[in-house]
Amino acid sequence: MGMTRAEPPPAALPAAYRSRLVLDALESAGLTGRPAGWPERLAGIGENRVERELARPAGYDPDRLAVFLSPAAGRRLEDLARAAHRLTRRRFGNAISLFTPLYLSNYCVNRCRYCGFNSGRPRRRRRLSLDEAEAEAGILAAEGFRDILLVSSEDAAHVNVDYLSRLAGRLLGDLDFASVSVEINIQGEDDYRRLFEAGVEGVTIFQETYDREAYAAWHQSGPKAVFANRILASEAAARAGMRRLGLGALLGLGDWRREALALGAHAAAVARHYWRTRTSFSLPRIRPSESGRPGDFPHLLSDAELTQLILALRLCFPDSGLTLSTRERPELRDSLIPLGITQISAGSKVNPGGYGEAAGPAASTEQFEVADSRSAGEMADALRKMGFDPVWKDWDRGFRGRAGT
Ligand code: SF4
Repeated sequence: MGMTRAEPPPAALPAAYRSRLVLDALESAGLTGRPAGWPERLAGIGENRVERELARPAGYDPDRLAVFLSPAAGRRLEDLARAAHRLTRRRFGNAISLFTPLYLSNYCVNRCRYCGFNSGRPRRRRRLSLDEAEAEAGILAAEGFRDILLVSSEDAAHVNVDYLSRLAGRLLGDLDFASVSVEINIQGEDDYRRLFEAGVEGVTIFQETYDREAYAAWHQSGPKAVFANRILASEAAARAGMRRLGLGALLGLGDWRREALALGAHAAAVARHYWRTRTSFSLPRIRPSESGRPGDFPHLLSDAELTQLILALRLCFPDSGLTLSTRERPELRDSLIPLGITQISAGSKVNPGGYGEAAGPAASTEQFEVADSRSAGEMADALRKMGFDPVWKDWDRGFRGRAGT
């Protein structure tokens, strides 16, 4: 996009992260600020450019992503959808992987204004012991899941590397899960390496928003309020050898087109420096929670805009996973899945203990309201009816290589 540098980089690199190649790439492209003139540049792209890009082989460069995110491409959604569908089937066949989150704690030291676990208000808090977490995972294993995402608020006194390593050992050993990933507070390179050695092979880190100013406004206090550290941590996870790195923005906090430009540059920088790590994208839209209603968010995007975003990423990153969560309602999920989605969550509970306990006023607080409440079995049936093969296990620990870059 030829954008100018928006701000100087932070002076010192915290020792835990060791490298800032990815952060530098984003900052030098001006994608952590609000570069002047970028909406006008996208608005100036014509439909002839969209056609030219559709005729070229799939792949990323910043200008190509900008073309697919442009208002002109929004008027050609059916053409984009056809190309994305063909590309996805060629690369991924009919397989759609199923996974589920397991929430471990909703105690949190941060005050993210959009989140139901925000430390600033009284909540029904719960943290799971190792035995309780294993019992929850047992319910999921019985439903057929072999791919699990361990999710926690920032509760380092309880959910820490030691706890997660021991839990991963139980899930991979006693319960025969094939893949364990984490979505937790950010760690340094050494701690990611310890997790990797304990069997965790994937890390998800949502940047929430790549707009540094908006980030400061939404993250009021706590360790998470340091914008740059999340980008640094994503590189630390790759350096530690993680096989999967999930990236994403929480859609609704900043302008979605600018978030997408930054997300693409982030994934491209990781791929350039850390070839062993496969990036994937998650595209969660803000959902109501006990900390906010939709009217509180200035940048909510429509179904058509979410569709365009998915298509643009698929056409630029043909080998990356694209994840769709239960934040979206069933009919929209069913219509988006054929367009480029490779992985979905199903039957999700977004509170600690949610699988084993009855919902109701006594249950622990949820992070947000789930929109698709179909069970894992119902979701698998729906996929089969659409002509897809639900895949419960797309990875085996025997494939693991050495940690490192
Ligand atoms: S988004 Fe994460 S860090 Fe922020 S309040 Fe919620 S659980 Fe805590």
